[in-house]
Amino acid sequence: MRKIFVFVSGVLISVVLIVSLIVIVRTLMNAAPNVSDTAHNSTHMTTADFVEVDANQAAQRLSKAIQFQTVSIQDRATQGNSEFVKFQDWLRETYPDFHAAVTTERVADLTPIHTWQGRIPTLAPLVFLAHQDVVPALGTDSGWDFPPFEGRIVDGYIYGRGALDDKGSLIGILEAANKLAISGFTPKRTLIFVFGHDEEVTGFGAKAAADLMESRGISPYAVFDEGGAVISGLVTEGAAAVLGVAEKGYLTLTLTSQAVGGHSSVPPDYTAIGALSRAIAALEDNPFKRDFDPVSREMLKALTPYQSFAKRALMSNLWLFGPLVKRSMLKEDSTRALLGTTIAPTIFNAGFKENAMPREAVAMINFRLHSRDSAQSVIDHVTRVIDNPKIKITQPESLASEASPISQIGTGPYKMIADVLGMSFPQTPIVPNTVTGATDSRFFTNVTSDIYRFTPIQTTAEDLKGFHGINERISIEAHKRSIQTYHLLMQRSGETP
Ligand SMILES: [Zn+2]
Repeated sequence: MRKIFVFVSGVLISVVLIVSLIVIVRTLMNAAPNVSDTAHNSTHMTTADFVEVDANQAAQRLSKAIQFQTVSIQDRATQGNSEFVKFQDWLRETYPDFHAAVTTERVADLTPIHTWQGRIPTLAPLVFLAHQDVVPALGTDSGWDFPPFEGRIVDGYIYGRGALDDKGSLIGILEAANKLAISGFTPKRTLIFVFGHDEEVTGFGAKAAADLMESRGISPYAVFDEGGAVISGLVTEGAAAVLGVAEKGYLTLTLTSQAVGGHSSVPPDYTAIGALSRAIAALEDNPFKRDFDPVSREMLKALTPYQSFAKRALMSNLWLFGPLVKRSMLKEDSTRALLGTTIAPTIFNAGFKENAMPREAVAMINFRLHSRDSAQSVIDHVTRVIDNPKIKITQPESLASEASPISQIGTGPYKMIADVLGMSFPQTPIVPNTVTGATDSRFFTNVTSDIYRFTPIQTTAEDLKGFHGINERISIEAHKRSIQTYHLLMQRSGETP
């Protein structure tokens, strides 16, 4: 008996030793890269490769772009086109060489498609997306330090609605392309620019552009759109280039609950509001599967070297500590959303009089689809969980989209972007990520699976709150670097097969 005990504890001690050894070795293998070691970002480029940019002039032009109130509101009928037309006239005047170099078509009335013909017709085109429209902004009494449509330049920052989302990117692209056109550059690979006008509401402009490409049999090398940035203080202490290699899908469902009306002094057993409330509570109690996927694993892998030793030990050994890491990701709304399809009840309408039973209660639930779910599997799940045939489940007339495919990570266009970022933002880890919001690029999954959601704009986790919030701003320095990065991207776009 004693012999068996000695044998079993011997085996156990060996197992613990071996596991500890594996954990330590894997942790050490993920040590932070040496400052002089830029191997993974090696580009053989120097700052001399940056195009010269007059930062103040570029800032003035972004400021002017912000002053056009190209606001998207949900009710398109009342919107009118005039501000968009004025904005596009100004773009043509301000970037004449670019507009002379491209051929321009227009879809959905207000979305231009500019095609800059490449020299080598066998190379698939590269598509740059940016949107002209912005979300509404209230004045200074809502908390803005400066009026949101004045484009004030203060203390090295350009303030205003659209500074980050997405006029910063739109103007950055045009500044870079115009400079290239002035220099007599012709791209090897055709460059296509699509500037949507309704990204913040429906994305009909981008959809029409993608449909047109599909009808012409154009399959781009890659599509670049907004979605990530060079962000400090978000996922690492320093800056990290967050690169969206996937995007969640989008689906809204309407739940309609009906019951008999009548006087509230003699209420029936089954009420419209009660049934609908139970249905929504059941959905919240039965979330979709949440787990790691290829993108979240790559994301953790990229972040691991920049963590403390303890965290590095956990993240380097997901085979052992996966459940622990997952549990900590589930605690934060922003990381929980990366692991599965989310359920968000956003509208609930019922009743009109305090003493009358409503005959109908209606709710809208917004889902952001993880790639392991489809719109149909979400509808099936909702139907099964609610388990009440008296509640009608329908889809409103808004555009739904499936989760995007996962773009190449580490190869192809990814490598081209990584090389350029390595030069523009040296010592900055590149972190592949899933974009949880919806961008115009979602319509392009029919023509390519390589979509990269990233603007080369350096910002902070704090300033990101300006996205659809107050005091949206971009630093003059970040705007300049963004122009230089777009310039490099366009210049090098023909270098990869
Ligand atoms: Zn945007």
